[in-house]
Amino acid sequence: MRIKNWDAFLFIAGYHVLLLALLPFVIGALSWASFVVFLITFLIGGISITAGYHRLFSHKAYKAHPAYEWVVLILSTLSVQWSALMWSHDHRLHHKHVDTEQDPYSIKKGFWYAHILWMFRYQRDFDSKVVPDLLKNKRVVFQDRYYLPLALAVNGAVFGVACLFMSPFAALYSGVLLRICAIHHCTWFINSLAHTWGSKTYAKELTAVDNHVLAFLTFGEGYHNYHHAFAGDYRNGIRWYHFDPTKWLVWVMARVGLVEGLRTVNEIRVRKELVIKDKTLLLSHLSGELDDLAAELRGKLEELSTAYETRASALMEKMRELRKVSDEQRSVLLVEIRQLRRELRAQWKAWLALTDIAVRQYHVAHQH
Ligand SMILES: [Zn+2]
Ligand SMILES: [Zn+2]
Repeated sequence: MRIKNWDAFLFIAGYHVLLLALLPFVIGALSWASFVVFLITFLIGGISITAGYHRLFSHKAYKAHPAYEWVVLILSTLSVQWSALMWSHDHRLHHKHVDTEQDPYSIKKGFWYAHILWMFRYQRDFDSKVVPDLLKNKRVVFQDRYYLPLALAVNGAVFGVACLFMSPFAALYSGVLLRICAIHHCTWFINSLAHTWGSKTYAKELTAVDNHVLAFLTFGEGYHNYHHAFAGDYRNGIRWYHFDPTKWLVWVMARVGLVEGLRTVNEIRVRKELVIKDKTLLLSHLSGELDDLAAELRGKLEELSTAYETRASALMEKMRELRKVSDEQRSVLLVEIRQLRRELRAQWKAWLALTDIAVRQYHVAHQH
C-alpha cells in the first residue's frame, strides 16, 4: 500500500512501536495511580468523541449549550482524532456513501483498511457543503484552526498532573500514549468490527451491524445497524437494557439543562419502516425463486406487512387524536390504543419469525 499521509502514519505507527519497545521497562514503574489516570482520561476522551463529535456535531441528534460545546471540543483532544469539523465531514460522507467508493472508510476495501489503513491514504477533498452548519459554529471553527496547540496543551496538562503521582516515564506511557492508543482502536472498531461482526435488524442491505460486545468497548456505538438506519436518533442502543453510556450521558445533561432537543425515532415508526424495508428486500430476493415455499412466503410477506402498516398507521393516528379530545373520549381512545399495541406486538413477532425463515432459507443477508 502506498502511504500518502506521512504525518498520520508516523504518529500512529510511531506510538505503537514506542509502546511495544518500552513495555519491558514500564511494567515495574506502573502503579494504581497509572491505572486510574489511564481510565479517567480514556473515559473522558472516548465519550467526548461519541457524544460530541459523533452524535452532536456529525448528526445533530441534540442541541447543546455553548459551554457544553466548549468542554467537548477541548476534552475531545485527549483522543487525538483531529478536529470536530474534519471528523464530522468525513463521517457524514461515510453515512451518505456507505459501502461505496466515496465512503472514506469503506469496509468493502477490507477490514484493516476500514480500521486503520484508510488514514494513511485518504485524500480529503474538503467540501464546505457537507458541513455548512459547523462552519457557522465559531467554537468548532476555532477548534479546527488551533487543533494542534489545543491537543498538545490538554495532553501536556494530563502529563503534568500525572507526574505528581508517578514517574514521568509512567505518566507518559499510561497517561498519554497507551490511552491515545486505546481510544483510537475503540473508535476504529466502529468502522471495522461494527461493519463486520454482528446482527442486522434495521437495515439488512448495509454492512453495519449491531453487537453488544462492541457497544461495551465503544461507549454504546456498537448498535451500528440501528445507527445507520436512523442516524438522527440521539440513542444508538434504543432499549433500556442496551449498553449505551453516551445516550445516558446526553440524557443526564438534558436533565441538568446543558443540552436539549434530543431527537428520537418513535418505535412504531422504526418498526413500520423496518417492515417496509424487509418486505422490499425479501421480495426482490424471492422473485427469482420458483419453489412452493417461496410462493407461500411471498404471499405471507405481502399479507402481514399490509396488516402491520395499516395497524401502525391507525395507532399513530389515534395517538395524535389523543392530544385533542375531551377526558371522556380519552378513556375510550386509550382502550383502543392498548388493543392496537397488543395486536402490533403479536404481529411484530410473527413478522420476525417470517423474515427469519426467508433470510435463512434463501441466505438473503449473505448476498450483500
Ligand atoms: Zn454516525
Ligand atoms: Zn458506519
